[in-house]
Amino acid sequence: MTQIINGGIVIIGGGQAGGWAAKTLRDEGYQGTLSVISDEAHDFYERPPLSKAALKQADFSLSRLFSEEDTAALNITWYRPLRATAIDSQHKQVLLSDGRAISFDKLLIATGGRARYLSSDWQSHPRVFTLRSWDDAQRLREAMLKADNIAIIGGGWIGLEVAASARQMGLDVTVFERQTRLCQRSVPASVSDALMQRHQQAGVNIITDCGDICLDETTDSLSISCDKQASQCFDIAVMGIGVELNLELASEAGLELAHGIVINGQGQTSHPDIYAAGDVACHPTLSLCLQSWAYAQNQAISTAKAMLNAHSEPFSDLAWLWSDQYQDNIQILGIPTAEATQHIQRITPNSEIYFSLNQNNELIQMVSFNDARAIKLGKRWMQNNRKLSPTELADPNFSLMSLK
Ligand SMILES: Cc1cc2nc3c(=O)[nH]c(=O)nc-3n(C[C@H](O)[C@H](O)[C@H](O)COP(=O)(O)OP(=O)(O)OC[C@H]3O[C@@H](n4cnc5c(N)ncnc54)[C@H](O)[C@@H]3O)c2cc1C
Repeated sequence: MTQIINGGIVIIGGGQAGGWAAKTLRDEGYQGTLSVISDEAHDFYERPPLSKAALKQADFSLSRLFSEEDTAALNITWYRPLRATAIDSQHKQVLLSDGRAISFDKLLIATGGRARYLSSDWQSHPRVFTLRSWDDAQRLREAMLKADNIAIIGGGWIGLEVAASARQMGLDVTVFERQTRLCQRSVPASVSDALMQRHQQAGVNIITDCGDICLDETTDSLSISCDKQASQCFDIAVMGIGVELNLELASEAGLELAHGIVINGQGQTSHPDIYAAGDVACHPTLSLCLQSWAYAQNQAISTAKAMLNAHSEPFSDLAWLWSDQYQDNIQILGIPTAEATQHIQRITPNSEIYFSLNQNNELIQMVSFNDARAIKLGKRWMQNNRKLSPTELADPNFSLMSLK
């Protein structure tokens, strides 16, 4: 007979969202049993350093969300490394990969995503790596230290961060991108051009609009070709073509899905006692899944509060994420939409800002290279639907701070 354990509030996933939800539940006074099911052996940690410092620095240690003492103080009953294999939403139980079942009063699904492969040939090739977890980063760093060259499959944010890290480690780098420009889905063409310029200056070979990317040998050597380039040998390759969200549990439990798990402002799914947070949770007002550190943290905090108090403030943060490449801190506020009809650049000696405005001169998206203060200002403009002057924004001598 299956052993059923009383789990109290149960969280599936020990990542950014799971960690912040656990901490918030305790901070908000929850004293009951708090169970976390995680298929990783580590305490909660952050993933952004994995494509940056964790690859480049020899002495880099796990980027913990909370210190060991603070994690212990959360008094969590861990089920790790174990997988949740099914959710029985009717009986309010989660099944574990070791055969046990945990009952829940409330459940949070924070299962994130896994790296996508072009095909199973790529997945089984010993020289092809992905980068999602701390263990992935350790394996990739070890391989990069022995490699002279690397192919990056996909010119999105993770691919470009790995490209920058690899160049800084002295590797020859080739990026294969099927779209006509870098980060095409998330930023306007002017920003793609700025990214391209920086990588080319750093010596990265970027092939955009490359057509099918083919793995020409599946033996120990790694040979890659595309429509624009004949077969070339690489020591290693990294997949950077996006993420497959871990939605199977939610889907089999019958929860409503659209891109990701559909939630309301309180993080509640179509089942009243099941909540979702982080990458898997469709943004309640933007209706898309953001893969962003800030969303995973802040939406999880807001959801944990709602799990204890149904009248808590609904989540409504703007989309915001960042990337670090070479010397640049790049911040992206807002998402591209068809409403953005005006694209304005503001180039100063120390920073670049790219604004996208609608016909009413309101800010739709803003991307800054090395100007975090301007992004803070942009958040306020967006929240207040402030009308902006394209001429002022473009003028490097005009002080944006005068629009506070
Ligand atoms: C390499 C890398 C670099 C990044 N850099 C940036 C950046 O610079 N800026 C930015 O804004 N964002 C960045 N991100 C995105 C950000 O880290 C993610 O959006 C965030 O980690 C999402 O948090 P999450 O808790 O939803 O998912 P995750 O952090 O992925 O955690 C989910 C956890 O659930 C576990 N899990 C899944 N299924 C099960 C199951 N069935 N049973 C048990 N456990 C399970 C997973 O193994 C994982 O441990 C980066 C992501 C990566 C991978």
